[in-house]
Amino acid sequence: MRTPNGVHALVRRTHEERVLRALQENGALSRAEIGRVVGLSRTTLSEITADLLQRGAIVVVDTDASRREGSGRPAERLALDPASAQFMGVDFGHRRVHVAVAAASHEVMVSGSVRYDDTAPWRERITLALDLVERLTTEAGVHYGALQGIGIGVPGPYPVPEGTARPRTNAAGTVLRPAPEGVDVAFAERFDAPVIVDNNTRLAALAEAISGADSIDDLVYIRLSDGVGGGLVVGGQLVTGSAGLAGELGHVTVDPSGRPCRCGKRGCLETVASVPAILAACWEFGLPLDGLRDLADAAARAHPVANRVLREAAGALGRVIGAATMTLNPSKVVIGGEIAHLVPVIVEQVAATLAAELFPTAAASPLVEAARLSDDDGAIGALAAVFHSSPLLARYPETADVRGDCGTRSSLSEGAAHVRP
Ligand SMILES: [Zn+2]
Repeated sequence: MRTPNGVHALVRRTHEERVLRALQENGALSRAEIGRVVGLSRTTLSEITADLLQRGAIVVVDTDASRREGSGRPAERLALDPASAQFMGVDFGHRRVHVAVAAASHEVMVSGSVRYDDTAPWRERITLALDLVERLTTEAGVHYGALQGIGIGVPGPYPVPEGTARPRTNAAGTVLRPAPEGVDVAFAERFDAPVIVDNNTRLAALAEAISGADSIDDLVYIRLSDGVGGGLVVGGQLVTGSAGLAGELGHVTVDPSGRPCRCGKRGCLETVASVPAILAACWEFGLPLDGLRDLADAAARAHPVANRVLREAAGALGRVIGAATMTLNPSKVVIGGEIAHLVPVIVEQVAATLAAELFPTAAASPLVEAARLSDDDGAIGALAAVFHSSPLLARYPETADVRGDCGTRSSLSEGAAHVRP
């Protein structure tokens, strides 16, 4: 009976989502009214509402006595519990963890972050994250009795490939600690909910694919920051590959005799197009810059050194993306990282390089854009992964609000997804 049980669970979850959706769209309804909206039998509906009530996802608000015509027992009216969290997204960065909690409507109810030292061991990071969740609960009055799933983003490949499970230091001096296998267990035990863990750059790719008005089935995502990471969405699914390394476009070789890369190879895209690599190249050609803002200023002034370095970096990036585009034929290429917004010439040059690299037909040319979500929105990517595992993923609410004093404004819904910190 293994398979029928699995199918039964999926069917039940789909039914639950339909009931929650009906209440979200219509406000309080009686069971009979819900039954008419979602088209479920009385028995099935009664089971589902009993379970949702018991878990605290919905509450009885009143009865229909005042509106009722004729005789008969007044019917209870049910509504979503506005304090009931349904989904949790957690993004562990190298120096901070960000948590976002969403309601049944997929609105972000509350979010917050806490910083840690980049040498902090995972046990400490997990404790800090769980404490943060507790604090958000107390401050915003959110409860987790009906939590449907938790998405967790971690830096670096996940699952951690064999032989790389020890901390190492990258070129910028950051200690990189692969996520322990226990991160999922810690959250699953605390909240008694299913947990998805994945690389946070890959989750950002998924968030980009589904955050617009129309979700994108085929997308290539690449993020430029201290390193260069990537994620691929193919046929609506996030591609992880056989060992969790799919989409690592930052380690495609662009110059076989180039600089050593932290991965052990030489001349990877990351050694040319990461933010530290671009800044180092500017220094080398006589333009000492003090960080990303300085680079953005130099690019805006069309400083010849900045211009040349940026065009070369974005050209290399465009050729690597060109190969990925030839392989996957995505409809969209998204470039993430703060630099993509601060230095628009990068996106322009990638688009120009792609136009030269690909078949000269419109069908071959993806739209090239800077990411909608910021790097601080990693928890939204983790939430996206949980929503994505939900049967009714395709239907998002049109508008969304955020409540809670400790939160940043962010949501996966169209419009709000464009809000930047
Ligand atoms: Zn490399």
